[in-house]
Amino acid sequence: MARCPICGEALKWEEIIEQMLTLEDFENLLEDRDEFLKALDEFVFRCPHCGEEFWGRALDRREAPKVFELLNEFKGGIDYKNGKVRLKLTNLLALDVMLEEWDRKVGRGI
Ligand SMILES: [Zn+2]
Repeated sequence: MARCPICGEALKWEEIIEQMLTLEDFENLLEDRDEFLKALDEFVFRCPHCGEEFWGRALDRREAPKVFELLNEFKGGIDYKNGKVRLKLTNLLALDVMLEEWDRKVGRGI
């Protein structure tokens, strides 16, 4: 789960990505995984809880590539006109982790 590196509060990925929508070339970033991750690392986010700013590289490194995949899988998950992320990224990531756990359990059972 993504957390603010300063106050430790949980952050929603959809809100994190919404902050990045201010980048002019955000749409192009979704075509290149490395470019996306680099832009995320170098982006200065503002925590909605404590109001402090932090670098994207302080976020969970395992989740960012999954966020990239989800945004690519569900085209139309972003409303560029209104600067909103419609996709419930945080929920989808939780589901993803759950399925991985399930796979592990089932794998062991066989
Ligand atoms: Zn914070």
